Amino acid sequence: MTTPREILLARRRAILADLDLIETDLDQTPPKDWEDRASERQGDEVLEALGNSELLELRRIDAALDRIAEGTYGECVKCGEDILPARLAAVPDTPFCNRCAP
Ligand SMILES: [Zn+2]
Repeated sequence: MTTPREILLARRRAILADLDLIETDLDQTPPKDWEDRASERQGDEVLEALGNSELLELRRIDAALDRIAEGTYGECVKCGEDILPARLAAVPDTPFCNRCAP
């Protein structure tokens, strides 16, 4: 059986690999052609937005891994109730139960 920790670590690795690709792509020298540069920049913004959302997810994953280490994983950080296993399975990095989820 796959533990939540394994799921979180696998997701973490995937994000880090993704972010690595994004960094590489952003670092590429812009094309010399002026018109190409405008569209290239738009692509960079999309990549940056994607990178930001992945960074946020990475933080949630790290926080969840911390809770596993502390033995509080699966408890809602807000009300302290147990988070439903189905919810944890769907969103392994969630710190909230169904009721406290924003
Ligand atoms: Zn709660």
